[in-house]
Amino acid sequence: MKNGTTVVPSGTYDVLVVGAGFAGLYAVHRALGAGFRAIGVEAAPGVGGTWYWNRYPGARCDVESIDYSYSFDEELQDSWVWSERYATQPEILAYLEHVADRFGLRPHFRFDRRVESARFDEGDATWTVTTDAGEAYRARFVVLATGSLSAPNKPPIPGADRFAGEVLFTAQWPREKVSFAGKRVGIIGTGSSGIQSIPIIAEEAASLTVFQRSPNYSVPAFNRPLTEDEQVRVRAEYPERRRRSAYSGAGTPHETYPKTVFEIDEAERLAAFEARWKEGGVLFGKTFPDQTVDEAVNKMARDFAEAKIRAIVADQRTADDLIPVDHPIGTKRICTDSGYYATFNRENVTLVNLRREPIVSITERGIETGGSSYELDTLIYATGFDAMTGAVTRIDIRGARGARIGDAWGEGPVTYLGMAIPGFPNLFTVNGPGSPSVLANMVLTAEQQVDWVVDLLADCRSRGVTEVEARADSAAKWTGHVDEVAHRTLFPKADSWYVGANIEGKRRVFMPYIGGFGAYRRTCEQVRAGGYEGFVLTARSGEGASR
Ligand code: FAD
Ligand code: NAP
Repeated sequence: MKNGTTVVPSGTYDVLVVGAGFAGLYAVHRALGAGFRAIGVEAAPGVGGTWYWNRYPGARCDVESIDYSYSFDEELQDSWVWSERYATQPEILAYLEHVADRFGLRPHFRFDRRVESARFDEGDATWTVTTDAGEAYRARFVVLATGSLSAPNKPPIPGADRFAGEVLFTAQWPREKVSFAGKRVGIIGTGSSGIQSIPIIAEEAASLTVFQRSPNYSVPAFNRPLTEDEQVRVRAEYPERRRRSAYSGAGTPHETYPKTVFEIDEAERLAAFEARWKEGGVLFGKTFPDQTVDEAVNKMARDFAEAKIRAIVADQRTADDLIPVDHPIGTKRICTDSGYYATFNRENVTLVNLRREPIVSITERGIETGGSSYELDTLIYATGFDAMTGAVTRIDIRGARGARIGDAWGEGPVTYLGMAIPGFPNLFTVNGPGSPSVLANMVLTAEQQVDWVVDLLADCRSRGVTEVEARADSAAKWTGHVDEVAHRTLFPKADSWYVGANIEGKRRVFMPYIGGFGAYRRTCEQVRAGGYEGFVLTARSGEGASR
């Protein structure tokens, strides 16, 4: 809590949810529906989470909107019309605002307050949660729906404070329109956020200088409006589409090519890559079933992507710089673009390869690299996030027996099922480390985890259980499993944010669960059916049954 602020009694709840993105909105909705006194707390002034903050030009989803939307309510699903294959940020935000209003959720949220600390009181098995608005909430259960990609990474580049021009972060883009007309713009970062925004900024700015440390693979979105016929067909197919997605590998109905590359000839292989490329975006990363497991197969996909890049980029030296050489394709999230590579054919766009000429400092007028100085009016950071753990560890969380989240996760996040942490009873994460989250359609992963947690809380209530905590041995086993399945793939080879490599000093651990969304769902179902094996459930005297 900020010094000097007064603690006001802000109520006592059964469930306190942090975050008003896809996960937090659904968590509050489900908790209220299950009869709990629930409240949500959100740092932003409104709902939306990712889609509230990331308003940069070109921001849109990379999972098709018809899949990247709630499945829990058929009427909601049938009443909302997505205008494009991949919706823009304003459209997704409008959808989430619509959901909040349709289910009457806004009055159950407190906006504009950031949770700063959470303390577990072992005496009465209740959390006290404080915010930067000087409030203290008490709740038996806390659900951290704080996002996997919500803690912006602001790299400590020497001289950053000195820049006299306009500074923008893609992850905290202003609400008012930003004009680039006539400006010399620089952008640091060529991940999904940079790659989506660069083509649009280039069209408006006088000049755009792209500061690239590592190139990423990007596949065109082939975005387009959805026709009326498609809208009708989607409605008819929705139940089957959702059924397949629920037990799929990544929360969408798409499947890999039915044969391995070794069962087919070169012509069929190239046709399969071409067909998948034309489906657009991230799907290309899994054209063949063994593409992210077998380096030889992966190399074929890389060669295909490389040829596509070379065919678009006119200057082959620039193409060389744009082609990744440091990671198997798909082991960092493939970016989904609209005209990215062609942007480098524009006269007003310059690519600066920071591997050849690293940034030495930011000055009042721009960026100095080891070799050149670039004068800028506007500097954009598209530098990503302290992913998966950052939003949780930025809260001072103290659990039972003196446990602190910073220590508990000091060697990497330890969780049971990606939802519970030993030492932190009655606290749950949604879309956190140890869960499929960022490797799947995150709307469906949020729904699945929220359902599981709220069902657990309802089961606790009916059994008189007041305290639920993951056992240390079950968490160690799950975390070991998360690591083990990751190492069956090529993913750990990449210096990605999946392993925390983008944050200096962060322990290198593969954080999301790569065993598949469907397999994960089944494991969660089994744990519930087995009476919550791996958890300690405690009932306090006077409040129900005993341990
Ligand atoms: P978020 O939407 O991140 O919401 C978390 C909320 O918690 C935020 O509003 C934040 O302000 C709040 N919060 C965090 N800490 C605190 C605190 N201490 N106190 C108070 N409030 C707090 N995923 C996909 O599956 N498909 C996509 O196409 C896709 N596109 C993306 C595009 C962008 C630009 C980004 C950044 C991510 C994208 N993702 C995508 C991932 C995306 O984050 C998830 O799909 C989804 O929106 C996450 O929802 P969430 O509710 O779990 O978290
Ligand atoms: P990101 O993928 O982590 O990219 C950040 C970029 O900034 C990288 O190019 C990184 O270079 C660079 N960078 C970081 N620190 C730097 C420094 N000190 N100096 C120079 N360069 C630096 O972040 P993101 O683009 O925001 O995307 C994060 C994730 O959010 C995505 O992978 C995706 O899951 C999701 N997302 C999705 C979409 C979508 O298409 N729907 C859009 C945006 C985001 P290095 O690679 O060398 O570290």
